[in-house]
Amino acid sequence: EELEEQEGQFEAYPRPPVVTIMGHVDHGKTSLLDYIRRTRVASAEAGGITQHIGAYHVETPRGTVTFLDTPGHAAFSAMRARGAKVTDIVVLVVAADDGVMPQTAEAIQHARAAGVPLIVAINKIDKHEANPDRVMQELTQHEVLAEEWGGDTMMVKVSAKTGAGIDDLLEAILLQAEVLELKAPIEGPARGTIIESSLDKGRGPVATVLVQAGTLKRGDIIVSGTEYGRVRAMFDESGRTVEAAGPSIPVQVLGLSGTPNASDDVVVVSDERRAREVAELRAARSRQSRLDEQRGVSLDQLFTQLKEGEQKSVNIILKADVQGSLEALKESLLKLSTDEVKVAIVAAGIGGITESDANLAVTSNAILLGFNVRADAAARRVIEERGLDLRYYSVIYELIDDVKKAIAGLLRPVVTEEIIGLAEVREVFRSSKFGTVAGCMVVEGVIKRNNPIRVLRNNVVIYEGTLESLRRFKDDVSEVKQGFECGIGVRNYTDVRPGDQIEVFERTERARVL
Ligand code: GDP
Repeated sequence: EELEEQEGQFEAYPRPPVVTIMGHVDHGKTSLLDYIRRTRVASAEAGGITQHIGAYHVETPRGTVTFLDTPGHAAFSAMRARGAKVTDIVVLVVAADDGVMPQTAEAIQHARAAGVPLIVAINKIDKHEANPDRVMQELTQHEVLAEEWGGDTMMVKVSAKTGAGIDDLLEAILLQAEVLELKAPIEGPARGTIIESSLDKGRGPVATVLVQAGTLKRGDIIVSGTEYGRVRAMFDESGRTVEAAGPSIPVQVLGLSGTPNASDDVVVVSDERRAREVAELRAARSRQSRLDEQRGVSLDQLFTQLKEGEQKSVNIILKADVQGSLEALKESLLKLSTDEVKVAIVAAGIGGITESDANLAVTSNAILLGFNVRADAAARRVIEERGLDLRYYSVIYELIDDVKKAIAGLLRPVVTEEIIGLAEVREVFRSSKFGTVAGCMVVEGVIKRNNPIRVLRNNVVIYEGTLESLRRFKDDVSEVKQGFECGIGVRNYTDVRPGDQIEVFERTERARVL
């Protein structure tokens, strides 16, 4: 706050836009970044190679544009979930020969949730199969409408292979930046964000700082996260030494005490003693209250908020196993909106719950609902760290019911079932005597002989039923704990395969709070 006040003393000037490239896999994100870097970033030596420092900036006759070098919505949302706001504009790459694909839709959802404007780059127009009109058509189904069709989204046809349209794309970015009126003071102490950092054998901790306000100079004393130090040297993406970097410019910095995390903030302080104090204070504080500070929203909190009239919208991220269920759920959920409370589906998609879903839940204050799908390990880590509300369902009306009750504030929905054990199928044996038996390792909790189970493949529920047998060596047993192997026979199900998971769950009564 103190810093913001200080910043206010300096006049703000237009600053270059910072761009993240998103899009479906293989649609050309990396190629586009590489093409622009190769043709627009001057390398230190003639024919020399530019450095990957996590971001780069290019100068065009119309102005400067900075690109973040890690494409995709996962990186984008991870940064935002940690509180960093670095992207001004998202360039959504859609291959003209492939059209809108699942990750295209996810990227749109993530950009929209973050309130960051999109520019569409219709890529691979050099190909015979290219059909840009179809891409534009398909995008309308995601409420992305081209300017030439009366919408507000700029769409540019490009080829990351031939370079066609790249000038137009850079121009579109600068045009969008003008509309956004991006500004920052150039004078005054620098403030910025860590883009990436690493420990270099020879040079020690190396961190790329995206300067966001003021000017970072060699010799400045900076604090970043729980690290600090005097800027000993700075380099640009060409490997050239620089003495100073202004707003929206990325620089690699040497001299920090350690490696801060990507998305940590960077501030300049007056002296080294103060820098150390701030860093140490932060380290202590983050140890104490990491969870308190970072808690997400839970259905219970939502309930309270609704009752107190604070929040007027229930934000939901919905993942399901198949399109049919997803559509049915979306339709039913949207119908639950009332005059006072709006049900907002921030994102919806097919497949397991991923880390980027969880991060999106943090930034958009949403609850995560999985219908016949599960969260993967990375997602579960974020969910746990942030105290997010995650609920699994296998019956449509139960999901709808819970949300309905949360809205009505009549009743606190509580977990209706709990997963108590998870086993991984390592091998499958078939014999006339025992039928199909899955040789498993119990990886979480406990597998109980008499509880209901589900078979999961790639985090998607493919079968629900009960066990026929549970054995350790030759013995029938009633339960097997984590870390032990066992043989599992699933009743009336023989299609178990190595790599599948078997989860065991327990249904509990729902407590009514009226
Ligand atoms: P990413 O997964 O989105 O980063 O996609 P890549 O940049 O790795 O590109 C995937 C494939 O498409 C690679 O084989 C590229 O050479 C190819 N590719 C990318 N852009 C173009 C383009 O404009 N035209 C053609 N013909 N191929 C392209």
